[in-house]
Amino acid sequence: MTRRTHAVVLGGSVAGMLAAAALARHLDAVTVVERDVLPGGPDHRRGLPQARHAHLLWSGGARVIDKLLPGTMERLYRAGARKISMYQDMVSLTSHGWQHRFPTEHFMIACSRPLLDWTVRDQVGAGGSVTVLGGTEATALLGDAERVRGVRLRGTAEGTVTDLEADLVVDATGRGSPLRRWLAGLGLPEVPEEVVDSGIAYATRIFRAPAEPFPVVSHYADHRTGRPGHNVVLLPIEDGQWIVTVSGTRGGEPPAGEEGFAEFVRAARHPLVSEFLAGADPLTEVRGTRSTSNRRLRYEGLNRWPDGLAVLGDALVAFNPVYGHGMGAAALSAAALGEEISRDGVGGGAARRAQKSIGAVVDGPWSLAVSQDIFYPGCRVDVADARWIAVLRRQRAFADLVTETAIRDPRVGAAVAGVTSLSAPLNSLEHPDVIAALRRGPTRPPLSRPQLTPAELAVRGTVRTAR
Ligand SMILES: Cc1cc2nc3c(=O)[nH]c(=O)nc-3n(C[C@H](O)[C@H](O)[C@H](O)COP(=O)(O)OP(=O)(O)OC[C@H]3O[C@@H](n4cnc5c(N)ncnc54)[C@H](O)[C@@H]3O)c2cc1C
Repeated sequence: MTRRTHAVVLGGSVAGMLAAAALARHLDAVTVVERDVLPGGPDHRRGLPQARHAHLLWSGGARVIDKLLPGTMERLYRAGARKISMYQDMVSLTSHGWQHRFPTEHFMIACSRPLLDWTVRDQVGAGGSVTVLGGTEATALLGDAERVRGVRLRGTAEGTVTDLEADLVVDATGRGSPLRRWLAGLGLPEVPEEVVDSGIAYATRIFRAPAEPFPVVSHYADHRTGRPGHNVVLLPIEDGQWIVTVSGTRGGEPPAGEEGFAEFVRAARHPLVSEFLAGADPLTEVRGTRSTSNRRLRYEGLNRWPDGLAVLGDALVAFNPVYGHGMGAAALSAAALGEEISRDGVGGGAARRAQKSIGAVVDGPWSLAVSQDIFYPGCRVDVADARWIAVLRRQRAFADLVTETAIRDPRVGAAVAGVTSLSAPLNSLEHPDVIAALRRGPTRPPLSRPQLTPAELAVRGTVRTAR
């Protein structure tokens, strides 16, 4: 009789659930261990404080989720999530000016994070082969530096300690992951950590939407000015709500409180969002967070790695949330893990190969986030190889040319949308067609004001008379 294969995934948020979905296709049993008692619907919970803030899911991640868990996007749409076409449904003031509105094949999903998490979780549960242990905390790895054999668990209510054996343990416990400490306890070398921290602070408030459907409206900082970043995003989500998230980098953080929030929105590079909000009723208080730095643990670079262990999601790499890449990168990583295990099974160095694949998957979004953040004043940079940062600085001129052209040119715009949505690799921007379009220059004139449809303008009009 062949032995049954079992994986334990630590953390039941987006990375953990997607890893479980990917592994359940190739292993006999998967157990997800989650510290929170998971709600039976789209509700907030303690272990996911960032769910109070705007979360968009780019199409590169959405398509992978639909592959792992078919029908997930359809369920989200039925529950009120919006499919936002890039750039048809976006009114965006970028670092280089207003983005023209034209369609591409790429999109984003706009909904609340609790709805997204609940839908993914429920889809995983519907598969039948994943067991979720809620109210259970992982406290240590079992095994040694050669092979991880399972995990020690503690029930959060009663404190009962148990050991759970597994052929593969996947850490998806988020930014607070204890894995570094656990590995040191097994005698593995120190894991190099890289931090690029622009000091960005977030504040969010939810409003009743005065109109539906509505585009995403955003004002982003111009990193070339030498001033702190100042961003405002209005995201239309389910239940007729707008979630409005503002953020400012070190020295330009949003002030606390409701008046501070309104003031920060007014001080954006354009008053559009402020004008829309003047007629919208707030539904929540303002909530903030500073858990936002780019932080990467280079597990894939260790010269020793135990069999039976993998790590993904924020536990491996967390991005400045302004770029909206955390969940998409987690989805791509889960798919990479599943692929590696489908090829090689769980033993014989498969975990190490999987970790290297996951490391390669997150390289793109890591470069995208870091290459912009290093230009903000007071950005703290702590990376192993400083030459890499110098290379990113030199590439800035090319990145600026690409952005400047993309907002006024459908060919280059489509290429940028592919990279931004995590659907295409960074080097797709060097495709000969894109280079030719860059040489030719933008095909549309610069916009001196936002492109709004009559219906959208009417909302703004209502606001004006209401003021
Ligand atoms: C303000 C903000 C806005 C963001 N906006 C976006 C966005 O627009 N788009 C986007 O893609 N990403 C966004 N992100 C990033 C996104 O939230 C994360 O990338 C994503 O949640 C990572 O998922 P994860 O599963 O790795 O970790 P988490 O979501 O942090 O989940 C970790 C889970 O592990 C559990 N856990 C922790 N320790 C243990 C333990 N010892 N035992 C058992 N369970 C444990 C926790 O309870 C939690 O459920 C944003 C982040 C922030 C902070």
